[in-house]
Amino acid sequence: MAGKNPLAIDISRLGRRPGSMIEVHETVPSPSRIGLDLIRIEQGAPLELDLRIESVSEGALVTGTVSGPATGECVRCLEPVGDEVSIDITELFAYPGSTTEATTEEDEVGHVVDDRVDIEQSIVDAVGLVLPFAPLCREDCAGLCPDCGVALVDAEPGHAHDKIDPRWAKLAALKDQAGDGSDG
Ligand SMILES: [Zn+2]
Ligand SMILES: [Zn+2]
Repeated sequence: MAGKNPLAIDISRLGRRPGSMIEVHETVPSPSRIGLDLIRIEQGAPLELDLRIESVSEGALVTGTVSGPATGECVRCLEPVGDEVSIDITELFAYPGSTTEATTEEDEVGHVVDDRVDIEQSIVDAVGLVLPFAPLCREDCAGLCPDCGVALVDAEPGHAHDKIDPRWAKLAALKDQAGDGSDG
């Protein structure tokens, strides 16, 4: 079932001898959309894996970095925002039959399944922590004009609309009514 997931890394060549180590340096398509509503690594975007996988007594210890392009929209002006995201991973995957596997739940520590370690959840968790909840195209993005929706950065200096303050508009209406009354 995990066979098609490029983030379920085959560690069959690692062996179980403590101290043995393999390295993974490859770029794989992201199997899912990873991130937040406003900014995320899209499904299929290239994820660059730079990992060391070491055999320790209880399992396989995965350490290293994963990076990929995050794309989204500025929360103020909705212009496209792009950023390169890089996260660090340190995750132990328990070997089948190990004490660690027997004494932990799947959601506490990863497990080696069919000679594979699936690092997708680790990436999802870490990426969620580093991406901004409110991405900005630039720190001082002026956003959109609340009246006409034009991006203020593209508008003329001092862009504004002549309009009557709603409180004055109400007064003006009352005045009109009073005027009508005196006429009749
Ligand atoms: Zn912006
Ligand atoms: Zn405007």
